[in-house]
Amino acid sequence: MLKTMFPTIERESSMLGFGCMRFPCTPDGKIDEAEAIRMIRHAIDNGVTYIDTAYPYHGGESEIVVGKALQDGYREKVILATKLPCWNVHKHEDMMAILDEQLQKLQTDHIDFYLMHAMNAQRLEEMQGYDYKRFLDEAVAQGKIRYPSFSFHDGYDAFMRILDDYDWKMCQVQMNILDDENQATLRGIREAGKRGIGVVIMEPLRGGLLANPPADVKAVYDAFPDKRSPVEWAFRYLYAMPEVVTILSGMSSWEQTIDNLRIFDIPGRPVLTEAENALFRQVKDTYMARMKTGCTGCRYCQPCPMGVAIPHIFQNYDATRLRAEPNYSKGYAKVIADEHDASRCVQCGQCEAACPQHLPIIRYLQEIHAECCGE
Ligand code: SF4
Ligand code: SF4
Repeated sequence: MLKTMFPTIERESSMLGFGCMRFPCTPDGKIDEAEAIRMIRHAIDNGVTYIDTAYPYHGGESEIVVGKALQDGYREKVILATKLPCWNVHKHEDMMAILDEQLQKLQTDHIDFYLMHAMNAQRLEEMQGYDYKRFLDEAVAQGKIRYPSFSFHDGYDAFMRILDDYDWKMCQVQMNILDDENQATLRGIREAGKRGIGVVIMEPLRGGLLANPPADVKAVYDAFPDKRSPVEWAFRYLYAMPEVVTILSGMSSWEQTIDNLRIFDIPGRPVLTEAENALFRQVKDTYMARMKTGCTGCRYCQPCPMGVAIPHIFQNYDATRLRAEPNYSKGYAKVIADEHDASRCVQCGQCEAACPQHLPIIRYLQEIHAECCGE
């Protein structure tokens, strides 16, 4: 198992982290507890030392199952990370109350990395209003958490604002072959690295998209002389980055657990060759050519005065094309039902003026609406 070190706090970790958001489930939708615990313990027995969960995963059940899995001496073997559900915070005192509940569910007296969950520009302001820094300082002083951290979903500017706001020990960001200029971006990751803030990666497979490439992407991989599975390529892209300490994999089966352990069983962090870098560019370009809008989800166009959910529509539309699924009509029907659809657009132009990608938003909205509604 490839081992790495969190900078500043000098804490060793496994490069592979066990993400506890996609456990195997029984037919009634409950976590298959025995199998999940078997997978976690097998991963730990084979060198995984980083376990990541969060308050809302599996409807609140993930933390309970993780707590059970870490009995019998397993807690002492791992770095445990969980997250504060910021959206459940309505006053300062709520934060400590939620943390106490999580400690109880996890059957532990401390969390190693405690993350402000899914931070973005708006949530930063809300959390500042609840004096989140005082909460984190107090939780550290009381020994309930070791390393204050955050997970992130927004654009580069918001990432830098959050990075500047507190003495973070780790940030958890979305990164993969397709997202080097999206979300925190590679630039943001490098900045975190320069400051000695450990980087943990989520969505290494972009929600599974990179594990099952469409035929044109598969052909790119097949033409490359070195043979690896798409999953292995996706992880290789990330573990070559010097700032990356741990990569989370939301393992949902025994087979995936075994395969991940195999992929991360390498002696050291690889240095990518020029040919490999070119391969990743070609893979990204091939995926991107399938997209219509290329919307990065930065949300600068929001809010639309008419409530049109522009990034939601664009990103979901593109995702169906990336996956080579038939069309987006089914997903779009939900947007219509929620009254956030493109037909509400009055062409005020506000969104296009704000879009850093200079997307022809109004035209795209019209085209997607027409395609999905058969107009
Ligand atoms: S142009 Fe349409 S989608 Fe854009 S902000 Fe105006 S009403 Fe909303
Ligand atoms: S449409 Fe433009 S501004 Fe809106 S989220 Fe997408 S890239 Fe950002």
